[in-house]
Order: sequence, then structure tokens, then C-alpha cells
Amino acid sequence: MPRPPRRAWLIVLAVVLTSCAASHPARTPTPEGARLKYLLRVSPSDVRVELDVRAPPGDRIPFQVTGTLGAGRDFRIVSEVTARDGSGASVALTTPRPHHWEAQVPPDGRLRLSYVVRTDEEAHGLRLGEPGGGEMPKRDERHVFLPGALVFVAPTDLQSVRGPIPVEWELPTGWEPLTPFGAEAPDLTALLDNYLAAGRFSRAMVQARGGPRLDVAWFGEGDVARSQVPALLTRVFDAAVTLMGGRAPTPGYVVMLRPDFPSGMAQGTPREGSIQVHLPRDVPLERVHQTPVLARILAHEYLHTWGRERGEDLRSSEAPEAGGEMRWFGEGFIHYLSHLVLLRSGELDLPGFLAALGRELAAVKQNPWYGRSSLTEASERFFEDGDARALSYGGGMLVAFLCDLELRSRGQGPLERFLDGVPPGKPLTRQAQWLEVWARKTGSPEPVATWLRARAPLPFEEALTRAGGTLMEKERRGHDARREYVIQAAEQSLLGELMR
Ligand SMILES: [Zn+2]
Repeated sequence: MPRPPRRAWLIVLAVVLTSCAASHPARTPTPEGARLKYLLRVSPSDVRVELDVRAPPGDRIPFQVTGTLGAGRDFRIVSEVTARDGSGASVALTTPRPHHWEAQVPPDGRLRLSYVVRTDEEAHGLRLGEPGGGEMPKRDERHVFLPGALVFVAPTDLQSVRGPIPVEWELPTGWEPLTPFGAEAPDLTALLDNYLAAGRFSRAMVQARGGPRLDVAWFGEGDVARSQVPALLTRVFDAAVTLMGGRAPTPGYVVMLRPDFPSGMAQGTPREGSIQVHLPRDVPLERVHQTPVLARILAHEYLHTWGRERGEDLRSSEAPEAGGEMRWFGEGFIHYLSHLVLLRSGELDLPGFLAALGRELAAVKQNPWYGRSSLTEASERFFEDGDARALSYGGGMLVAFLCDLELRSRGQGPLERFLDGVPPGKPLTRQAQWLEVWARKTGSPEPVATWLRARAPLPFEEALTRAGGTLMEKERRGHDARREYVIQAAEQSLLGELMR
């Protein structure tokens, strides 16, 4: 667990302000609600935000940084919060606990909060590749990236705010803002559950068939509109929407492509109207469409929207999120489905798909928890242990594959139509609920219940053989001797049916 630095002067400030606030009589908020406006000032040295609140005088408003990533993480990336009234006179502000502030609306009905958003890596201490590592606010000489839930101080009660919410920018010369909602968020959920970016970037519009409208932004060198990337996005989103039964769960997306990760590393995140993808910085625009990782991440993040509810990830408490035991499903099944999207879109052929499955099998078999810990147990330790996290993805993918073969061999259709009843973007919080849906479809919670609970290897080879495939094990020589698995199958076998 990372421990961000704690600043002693913040505590001193909080104590002083607490004593001032006590002298005002408090009133409970009135039903008219508050109106908000944000001004984002981005300079070469920092990011400052001004929040202008208009609300009935005397209302006492608790504010907080909603924060995502739950799991009890304690980030301190918003600091130097001060309050003034409409004329600029100081207003008392209390800090009941970290990331929370409270103030009373002054007699002029205007409360203006100012604060700084830290965009340096030391502010959060997360390593790239860790959950949330790529989601933190960041600023460099050409761009700024701001995840709404982590940078906007907002009233704790989301329902107490009336939309729309204007968002204004003060930017360095030549910079452009980029948000999925233009210059005005329709409501607080849309503002918090999205990425806001600004800087120098190129842009292309993509319309996927029967699917969403994509506003693609490339934050590296070159013009994305003249590259192969829009064509790739069309193929991937067409296939993803088809996999979801032809229903596009979202009308549009801003797709932010950021070539700012170290060589060989990539990561994506979905929000209500935005998908962010970090790509290796050494892959230029001309070659980025050839990296299988881009297509896979795009498919993966879009599949997270299958059944996702508005504001689902906005967490207003530090309590660990519910449903940790279901990570094998939320991540693992989407990992499998994203490979199916690549297969159906033509990014992978059947041998390529089976090779990817073989690589995943090798990684799972070499995972220190495999066979020693059940998938459910690994899922529960998703945030604490990198190996457990990897097993949630890889083991979950293998279970999805086994479920797909199980349903197909019984003549009960492909896995994706079963998932219409339990969409993976809306993971159930209890495993028993998922198994109930499976039992309704097949007559019994088995064999899946055993695959999830047992601290034993998954029956991968048996299922593969029954489906007409063969598995060959190869020892790779050298100092990092590893096992490799080669899977082969004819297109006429049950495995070949996965292409359709
Ligand atoms: Zn995911």
C-alpha cells in the first residue's frame, strides 16, 4: 500500500479554521440545491482549480474528493483548499477528515473554493502498472490529464447539485481542452466519472457500425486522422458491439491515446464517456495500429461498459468496495471476451487466438497462487498482491473459456448470449448470485462452482481435448527457462466455432 507524504501544515490550518467555523449557526441544506462552476487554471508550474458555488445563504455544505480506486487508498493530491465569498473575503472552512471540507454559504449566496491539484508522481506513490497507476492526474510540457473523481472537490451529496455544470479553462497558448461533454457537464456524475484533458494533440472522429461515435485523440507526434488508427477502431468497436448482441451500451466516447508508458507497458481505463489508453512511448503513430495490445485494450475497456451503471465507480466512502470476490468475472471474463473481439474483427486468426490462450495458460500455471489458492481467494486479494491480481485476470479468462466450451458443447449457445443475463460490466457483488444464473441456464451450479472454489488446477487440458484441440508443452531453454503451451485445433472443431 503506497503512503503519500503527509504535510504537517495542512493539519495546522485545519485546526485554526475549525475554531472559526464554530461561531456560525448551521442550517441544513435546502431543496433548491447548489449550482457549480469550475475554472481550471493550467500553468507551466501547476494546476489550480476554482469552484464557484451558488447556494442558499446559511446552508452548510460538506465537500469531498470522491476518489475512485476505493480499497481504502488515501491519496492527497488536492491541497491548499481555501474559501472566500463573492467579494473575496475569507470564509471559514473545516476539515473534518482527510479529503473532506465543510463551509457555510455566506450571506451573498456565493462560496468560492480554490485549491491546487498535485500532478507530480510523488503525490500518489503508485507505480505504473499498479491499479490506478495510470489514472492519476498528470501534467507535462504539452498536456494535462485530470480524472474527474480525483481532482474535483464537490459537494458530498451528489444529488444536492443542479446541473448543468460549466467547466472553463485557462490554458497555455496553443493548448486545447478535451472532454466528452464539451464545455458543460450535464450533471455532477458526468463531471466526476470522466477524464478531462488539455494540450496539443491530434484528433479524428470515428463512427462504428451500429455502435458508438468515437472522438479519438492522439497525444503524441503525428496526425491520428491520417493514420491507420481510425480504421482499427472501427473494426474493433464493430466487433465489440456485435459481441454484445448489437446493442451499443454507450452513444459516444472520447478515446484518449497516450503514448507515455515505458517500452512494453500499456494500460487502459474506462469512464462514463471516456476511455483512456496508455501506450509504450517508443511505438510511433505509424506502427501503433499493429500492436495487438492497442486493439485488445480498446476492446477490453469498451466491454467494461456492458451493463455498467452510471456513477457506479464513484465512491464516496473509503470502505473497501463490495464484490472483490467477483474480480475473476469482471476482469477475467472481459479479458477472454476482448480476445474474442480480436478474433471476430480479424485482428487475430484462430491460430493467433489459440496462441494467446496458450500464453495465458503458461502464465497461470506459473503463477505462485495457482493450485494453492482458489480463484475466489485470489480475487479478494486483487489490490494487495500482484500475483493474485494476475491470477484474477488469467484464471478468470480460462474459466470464461471453459464456460464457453461447456455451453457450446451442450448446445446452449455461445458464452456471450449467456452474459446478456449477467453483463460483465456490472459484476454482481456475490458469487452465489452468479452461480444462480448459471444454474438457471444449465440446471446446476457445477462444474463452475468447483472451478471457482477449489484450490486445484483447472481442467483445461481435458476440456480442450474434448473440444477438438491439442495441447503441446514446450520447455524454453536459457537462463529464464519457462514452459510454453502450443494449442492447435481445426476450424471445423468446437474450438473453430469460437470464430462465429
Ligand atoms: Zn479491466
